[in-house]
Amino acid sequence: MATLLSSKPVVSHIRESLVGRIYVMRERGVVPTLAIVRVGDRPDDVSYEASVVKRLIRIGIDVRRIIFSENVSTEGLMAGIRELNHDPTVHGVLLFRPMPKHIDETAVCEVLDYNKDMDGVTEASLGGIFSQSGKGYPPCTAQACVEMLKYYSPDLAGKNVVIVGRSNVVGKPLSMLLLQQNATVTICHTKTADLPSITKSADILIAAAGRANLITAEHVSPGQTVIDVGVNMLPDGKMVGDTAFDEVEPIVHAITPVPGGVGPVTTSVLAQHVVTAAEKSSK
Ligand code: NAP
Repeated sequence: MATLLSSKPVVSHIRESLVGRIYVMRERGVVPTLAIVRVGDRPDDVSYEASVVKRLIRIGIDVRRIIFSENVSTEGLMAGIRELNHDPTVHGVLLFRPMPKHIDETAVCEVLDYNKDMDGVTEASLGGIFSQSGKGYPPCTAQACVEMLKYYSPDLAGKNVVIVGRSNVVGKPLSMLLLQQNATVTICHTKTADLPSITKSADILIAAAGRANLITAEHVSPGQTVIDVGVNMLPDGKMVGDTAFDEVEPIVHAITPVPGGVGPVTTSVLAQHVVTAAEKSSK
């Protein structure tokens, strides 16, 4: 039976590291503040927003919801973000994506000041990860995978990590963050030949493809750690990851559950970014 890598101790560990920092800032009259920008009322956005608000407020971070109607224009949205850029009481901004089809999402993201870019949506933030310039912040999910790994298997140096997925939100930035930890990283995607032979060779396998049951018994081997980033909704409403959990779990050494794995740590990383941004802006 594999060890279940629950988010709970990682979330507590991050929360403990933030509480004192938030206290010190609040004593100085600075309330770390996140603005959430949401367009329309997509149920998954509304539910994620509610969970972010609850978790951040609980530890002393203020959250402002900026809600635009579904038919807001690209220019209207950009104007709203410029206002947040210039508001000294807002330290971080989280843009919910995907945005409606008529919106030029790239243009909207690029208008955001990278100092307030909490989820690595600007080119400056992504470039910052590549060059380690310190500009911006990595996407929260990518960093959440690293936080999970550092908590449960601190020494990543020399580990052979295979990531399935090469998006700008997870796979690519995560590969850079893991290189910074001196891991040896392989990235797989839909054109990868013989995926099982590559995934089987990993010390750590990270599934970030968004495909239920992609990783089966033939993709894994004993001794591996599996981080499942996938969030997939089955027709019966059940949430599952990318691994066929019931057949993978008996083989591997350790695995993250879905739900209760990477997801909650992602919100903790968001809190971490807001606190860091507030500290930087109030220096
Ligand atoms: P995405 O933009 O759709 O990218 C998926 C990646 O997986 C692509 O690079 C794709 O390859 C690759 N892929 C898809 N099917 C594959 C297959 N059969 N074999 C090999 N590679 C395959 O998705 P994303 O935004 O990165 O998100 C990935 C998953 O993470 C989703 O389930 C998403 O819901 C979840 N997620 C979770 C959190 C969290 O907090 N837990 C946050 C963000 C995302 P190509 O490039 O060749 O198409």
